Amino acid sequence: MVNFRKARERMVEVQVMGRGVHDERVLEAMLKVPRHLFVDEALRDQAYSDHPLPIAENQTISQPYIVGLMTESLELKGTEKVLEIGTGSGYQTAVLAELVGRVFSIERYPDLGYRANSILRKLGYDNVIIRVGDGSLGWPDDAPFDGIIVTAGTPTIPQPLVDQLVMGGALIVPVGDMTAQELILVRRVAEGIKKTNLGGVRFVNLVGKWGWKE
Ligand code: SAM
Repeated sequence: MVNFRKARERMVEVQVMGRGVHDERVLEAMLKVPRHLFVDEALRDQAYSDHPLPIAENQTISQPYIVGLMTESLELKGTEKVLEIGTGSGYQTAVLAELVGRVFSIERYPDLGYRANSILRKLGYDNVIIRVGDGSLGWPDDAPFDGIIVTAGTPTIPQPLVDQLVMGGALIVPVGDMTAQELILVRRVAEGIKKTNLGGVRFVNLVGKWGWKE
């Protein structure tokens, strides 16, 4: 039987901090969120391993390091309103909920959205709203957002997401082909956008109007 708290501490120390994520608040959030509750019971023993894991609908819960890297890149301070595209298991949503004022999250598959919502409620996260739909369109009704995190790969940066950022806000998104992408940090500045490449990743596809076609 795995000691989940110990496994979580090792995950943060070795996989996340060990690879250069140093934002104390992000590390604390990852120490707190019980990742094993976001995966199928049969996979719980692997929840703190150094790789993504399968969830329903042929989707994945991202590798812990990638969650840490993407979250840190948004430079969150505590009061922000953040949008997540691709709720999946709800794990990244929970990490964000520990760090900001409000989290809006969109998932394409209803069953994933409902399941994530139910776990997040059980864990007491009351600053999260989950919607089922095409997240490549963003969430115009509640825009603008201080930060946007896209947890699925897209051929190009979805323009609606850039438009829904506050001035100075940041969007982190995997951009590339269907099998490999570059993690691009986009900051909205007065002159337009400033892009930084944070390195190679492999994500499932963002399927939607501004992502891959079905
Ligand atoms: N953040 C998730 C987690 O912590 O478990 C990882 C999510 S998984 C890598 C990507 C998710 O994006 C999948 O659940 C997939 O169904 C969802 N997705 C793909 N295209 C989408 C779209 N257009 N709108 C919303 N969700 C989408």
